[in-house]
Amino acid sequence: MSVLVTGGAGYIGSHMVLTLLEQGEDVVVVDNLSTGNEWAVPGQARFYKADIADADALDAIFATHAIDAIIHFAGLIIVSESVEAPLDYYSENTCKSRVLIQRALDAKVESFIFSSSAAVYGAPGLEPVTESAPFAPESPYGTSKLMTEWMLRDVAAVNPGFRYAALRYFNVAGADPKMRAGQSSRQSTHLIKIAAEAATGKRDGLQIFGDDFDTPDGTCVRDYIHVTDLANAHYCALAYLRAGGPSVAANCGYGSGYSVRQVVDAVKAVSGVDFRVTQAPRRAGDAAMIVADSTFAREAFGWMPELDDLETIIRHALEWERRLGNRTGGQPDG
Ligand code: UDP
Repeated sequence: MSVLVTGGAGYIGSHMVLTLLEQGEDVVVVDNLSTGNEWAVPGQARFYKADIADADALDAIFATHAIDAIIHFAGLIIVSESVEAPLDYYSENTCKSRVLIQRALDAKVESFIFSSSAAVYGAPGLEPVTESAPFAPESPYGTSKLMTEWMLRDVAAVNPGFRYAALRYFNVAGADPKMRAGQSSRQSTHLIKIAAEAATGKRDGLQIFGDDFDTPDGTCVRDYIHVTDLANAHYCALAYLRAGGPSVAANCGYGSGYSVRQVVDAVKAVSGVDFRVTQAPRRAGDAAMIVADSTFAREAFGWMPELDDLETIIRHALEWERRLGNRTGGQPDG
């Protein structure tokens, strides 16, 4: 059997493909390359350049490969952009997921893992958030993810052969420890990526958005998870579904929070570069604190994080950034 990875040429998807191949899985990647890079797909995976809403392309893939599981990453991920262009997010993330789920049902795919987000919770308050916290997305991005979770829930309710795991990511960062993959996008808005660019001289410093939040140092607190641990969480979820586990939603974070200032100081310490940091007003929509209660993923899937250390995450992000050089989006040095 094969595993179909949508968005497998992107940041998290490319790490997933590496994890699956290491586990001896047969991997099929579909990616429209709108933000991904074909070079990020290892040669052992079968690659199809196609959109997940391209019914003919999907039908051909399902006719060629015996796919028992789909891991669905393809989608748009920039929260601020989703506020400016909500219909793009509902189209790319929600409507196209609907097409893919239909194809999955038609092809009798049994296991579906969906790339969801802590954004479904909105601003959950100052305690670690559990899966049963109320949904309160504050952006079309978060809503587009929640709508897809609800489609999966409703479809699974009436299709006993179809089960899903919606994995709600907290702040994903870092790069493959063997430097085979990393974050290559040109326009990341994510803190550790931006700090790594500042530390490698690709940008002229960094702004801290807001220092008057209700947190110990006034800057926002987030739960940063290493991308390789996140890929492993998906693999554990896949094993869980294949063993017959019921459909679930699970947080993917470590349960420990770091403030923006702590992250910036750690990037400076690990890189040895004292890049320029300026204080800026709050960014619209930022919650003071978003930290996972990740008990459920550990217990239900037997997921055991191995890289849950901020310094390790930063070291890998920096090393990848150096290899990427100035050819952002281009192939890094080997
Ligand atoms: N942040 C910042 N400067 C930047 C990028 C991010 O101060 O250049 C802050 C941002 O306001 C938030 C935290 O870093 O409080 C994490 O932001 P990121 O975009 O990485 O992830 P988010 O939690 O918004 O998904």
